Amino acid sequence: MRGWTLPSGKVQISFSGGRTSAYMLHQILAVNGDFDPERVQVVFSNTGREMPATLDFVQQCGERWGVHIVWVEYRNHVDPRQRFEIVSHNSASRNGEPFEAIIRTKGYLPNQQTRFCTAELKLRPAKEYLLSLNWDNWRAAIGIRADEPRRINRKPLRERWQRWYPLVDAQITRHEVVDFWRGQSFDLGLEVVNGNSALGNCDGCFLKSEAHQAMLARDFPERHAWWEEMERLAGSLTSNPNGARFQKAYTKADLRDFVERQGDWIFDKENDALCQADGGECMI
Ligand code: SF4
Repeated sequence: MRGWTLPSGKVQISFSGGRTSAYMLHQILAVNGDFDPERVQVVFSNTGREMPATLDFVQQCGERWGVHIVWVEYRNHVDPRQRFEIVSHNSASRNGEPFEAIIRTKGYLPNQQTRFCTAELKLRPAKEYLLSLNWDNWRAAIGIRADEPRRINRKPLRERWQRWYPLVDAQITRHEVVDFWRGQSFDLGLEVVNGNSALGNCDGCFLKSEAHQAMLARDFPERHAWWEEMERLAGSLTSNPNGARFQKAYTKADLRDFVERQGDWIFDKENDALCQADGGECMI
């Protein structure tokens, strides 16, 4: 079937823990049947800053659909081949431990210009895991939809893997994904704001709109506090002020201060003063 048939060779299915990539996994399963683990691996990279609902959702998708999802996390290790660990729903990091480890290793924070967190926390652990299975080359199914054309990049990668966009090839837009989840008996337990799961991916991701980051500070101050703590940590590791903040325009402490002073602020795209609006998706 157009878009969903597995390409030849080995295939990684990148499961981000969001509704779109879960839908992608479901459709590939529906068309191709049970996966042969020699040929197909479903991988979820946990940064440690996913909301508990996301971790529960990943677990449920695996259990309900009878598919083995491998959970991997970044680990700091002298041997690059060992910079990952396989974890489970039970043992997965829940307080940003892998994220903090890469910040300590780098000595500064990721930001919109130097977004090393995606590469080190998501891509690399998955890649090292597949290399540990003696995979040489593979295709990676990426959960980007047909209505997100600016995120599609078909240029060949100078990598062991190449991208596969099954949702684009199948002409799937947000509507089909929303309809699919309306018909399911379970769902990702995260609120949708302005068409996006404001708390999907890393909870306080600096790619998210200012409104979504402010929502975290207001509704989950204890989770926002971790991001402030990382800015303090980076400040002790680097003398470059830009390396100690996730965003040029404001620090996480500035954002909290603003939220505390504007208790009735309505968080929407129009109120973004400092940050580009984005779904906060963290993708290849
Ligand atoms: S979701 Fe954001 S903070 Fe998390 S790894 Fe991706 S870009 Fe980095």
